[in-house]
Parts: sequence; C-alpha cells; structure tokens
Amino acid sequence: MASETHAHVTDAHDPHAFTGAADAAAADAGAGARRDRAVRAAVERGLLDVEPVVCLLDVAGIRASAAALTGAFAAHLAPGTPVLHAFAVKAAPLVPVLRLLAASGLGCEVAGPGELALARAAGVPAERTVLDSPAKTQAELREALALGIAVNVDNRQELERLDALVAAAPTASPIGVRINPQTGAGTIDALSTATATSKFGIALRDPGAREWLVRNYVRRPWLTRLHVHSGSQGVPLPLIAAGVRELHALAEEINAAAGRRQVDTLDIGGGLPVNFASDATTPTYEEYARALREAVPTLFDGSYGLVTEFGRSLLAKHGTVLARVEYTKVTGGRPIAVTHAGVQLATRTVYAPQAWPLRVLPYDAKGAPKTGPPLVQDVAGPACFAGDLLATARQLPELAPGDVIALPDTGAYFFTAHYGYNSLLRPAVYGFTTGAPHGVGFALARPAQSLAALVDEAGGALGDALLA
Ligand SMILES: *Cc1c(COP(=O)(O)O)cnc(C)c1O
Repeated sequence: MASETHAHVTDAHDPHAFTGAADAAAADAGAGARRDRAVRAAVERGLLDVEPVVCLLDVAGIRASAAALTGAFAAHLAPGTPVLHAFAVKAAPLVPVLRLLAASGLGCEVAGPGELALARAAGVPAERTVLDSPAKTQAELREALALGIAVNVDNRQELERLDALVAAAPTASPIGVRINPQTGAGTIDALSTATATSKFGIALRDPGAREWLVRNYVRRPWLTRLHVHSGSQGVPLPLIAAGVRELHALAEEINAAAGRRQVDTLDIGGGLPVNFASDATTPTYEEYARALREAVPTLFDGSYGLVTEFGRSLLAKHGTVLARVEYTKVTGGRPIAVTHAGVQLATRTVYAPQAWPLRVLPYDAKGAPKTGPPLVQDVAGPACFAGDLLATARQLPELAPGDVIALPDTGAYFFTAHYGYNSLLRPAVYGFTTGAPHGVGFALARPAQSLAALVDEAGGALGDALLA
C-alpha cells in the first residue's frame, strides 16, 4: 500500500505522466485503501475525541488528480501551446489546498473578493488567476485590471464598464466574454448553466447575439479571449464538448471578421462530473480530452492557448467526513442512527437527496471497517429539522453508538461550503498522507471553529447593539 502511494506521488511530479485505464483502476483501489488507513489512524489518535466530526483530505489523491488533468491535456495539445489549469476556488476554498494545487502547476479561478483573497494568500500569482462572476463590482474590476488578473466579462453592461476602465488605465489583464452556448440542461436544473435562460454569460442563440458579439469584439482589440463554462454535475461529456465547439466556432468567426488572430485563448471552463457511487474515477480527464478532440478536432492544434477551470473533479474524490454515531433508535419500525454529520456539511444531499446521493461507509468504534448483515436504516444528522438525513432506508451493517461513519467524495462543495444552521461548528480539516515512515501523517489544513469564534461572528461583542 505504501509503495502504491509513493507511485502516485512520483506520477504527480511529472506533468506529462499518462494515466492509462489500468493505472487509473489501481489508483482508485489505492484511494479506498488509503482512506481505510486514515480512518483507523484518525480514530486511534483521538481526532474524533476532541470534536465528534472531522474532515479529511487525501493529499496523494489530490496530487494524482492534478497530474491526471495536466497530463491528459499535455498529451493532446500541440507542443508549446500555452495552457493554464485554474482551479475553481469555490469547490474547496482552503488556502493549503490552493497552495498544494499551485505546487502541482495549477492556478485559481475566483468569483469575487473572498476567493481572490484566498488565492492571493496561497501565493497564486495574478497571471495564473482568472476572475469570473456575474456580479463584479466596479471596485473588483478595477482591482483585477490593476493586478493583471484575467477577466471574463459576463454581460453587456459589464463590457461597458470595462470600456471605461480600459480607456482610463493600461492593463496587463487578458479579457474575454463569457458566452452561454444554450446547448441544453443536464440532469440537475440548479446546476445547468447552458439552458436557454441561464443567468450566465451572453446567450449565443438569442436573436442578433452572435452578430453583436462579432461586431463588438472587432471594435475592441483588447478582447482576446472567449469563455464558456457549460458543464457541471449531471451534464454528459458530449454536451459539455458541444459548448466548447460553439466557443471555438465563434472565435474563428471573430478572427475571420477581424482579419487577424485577435482571439488567442479559449477558456473552456470546468464542469467535469464526478462519480459518487464508488471509488472509481469516471469520467477521467483523458476521456474528456478525447471527447473534446472528437467534437472540436482542431481545438488542440496550437492555434489557441487554453484555460480550464475544474473544481469538483479535482477535489471531490479526495475528501471524507468522519462522524461519530451518537445514538441509535427505532421509530415507526425504522432504525435510525443519529450522527454528527448532517446538513451543515452535506447541505445539497440533505435538501436534494435525489440529485446528490452520498455513500455512507460504516466503521466500528476503533475505526475498522464494520461488517455484518445488512439492515435498512436511516442515517441522520444533528440538526433540528426532520429532513436532516444523510441517507434514507440505506442497507448497512447495524450501526451502534460510538461507531464512526465516513462520507467519501466530499472534498468539493461539501465540508468546505459549511452551512451554519443551528450554529453547528465548522469542523477541522486534516490533510493525510499514508506513506510517512510512521504510518499515516495528518496535517491540519483548517482549524475547527471555536465556540468563542462562533459567538464573536454572531455579534458577541455587540450584545447591547439593539437595546439603545
Ligand atoms: C463553478 C465553476 C467552475 C467549476 O465547476 P466544477 O463543476 O466544479 O468543475 C468553473 N468555472 C466557473 C465559471 C464556475 O462557475
């Protein structure tokens, strides 16, 4: 197991490492084994004795995903083509994670002052940072242009703001416009950005929009990029690739109208879906690169630099929530295990369980995988509303107080997107490695929120404010 882990780390340092199908299967099996070791070590070292819930990140897994991403694109791109893989910070807004990814050659995609501050705190340079957001303020735009951060314009009014800002001060920022290719929805409405009426970007198929875009690019020589982000969980690869095909065709049209290669870089967004049903990584970056090549045969030929903005697919598989089972009960004939992980960490799963099912992996009180005859149970969280359920009628070995449950695949948009219901504390996040000489190593990546901090953020120092 240790040697497997070393193999991943070695791969991660070679951006051109190619992860074939057999390698990928071995890597997936390795991830499950590493998680089991980390759970055992976390329990043995008392991480769950301080607080009843803790979050883990598999450092080798994150490195391997970053290497798979850079390797897959490098394998297809013409040599020397500029490429920036900008991690979508919202997927895991933790400075140590951004720094780890930066060490693997990635930049950051940010959507506002908070995420930009995190990217800067991680030391990610302006030229490896991309600013997207449908609601950028004047101040944010001015700061981004002053720093030289790439900006993707969302709408016509924002473009007018940029006219004024670009005229007022020279900038090193590459600037592009986000389009909505209107290629259609995936299986999750709330996450589908390419519907006819999505709020993002300039809708390409609306009457007159295409001509408007071409005309307005040709008038503005500083518009050198085009942006699309049309994938997400629930969107199949060919549909994501169709959005990129629209982007590429528009760039060609603009460049023909301009009579030169005005658009030199295509930002193709992120949006690769993640498999929440097993440890298998599907689809892979290599499969996505091939789908892109099929849909847009000239995409990788070097005539355009590329920017990507992956989030979920880089981090999801590498995060695990661990929580103690506090009590068990039987209600209306249904066994229920009440745990300390619920809506505060798995908000989407609790509110939209059909769209966001999570696996629940049972471990005993000592952190060993729990086996036993399956029993249909509910797994509940600690929050005071009836719907706070991680799983309903799930077949699991019978859970008991003191047992531990693990929620794998929660490295993106789950425990890093804490929901403050019931003033439940933000748990600590530890990165783990399994190749250390003394077994599993843990490194604190986010401290647990303290009760004092919680009170302070809730206006603790302003107690009399409303009495005056
Ligand atoms: C959220 C987002 C991403 C990342 O999406 P994933 O599905 O996590 O890969 C990339 N670009 C933009 C503009 C986004 O809003």
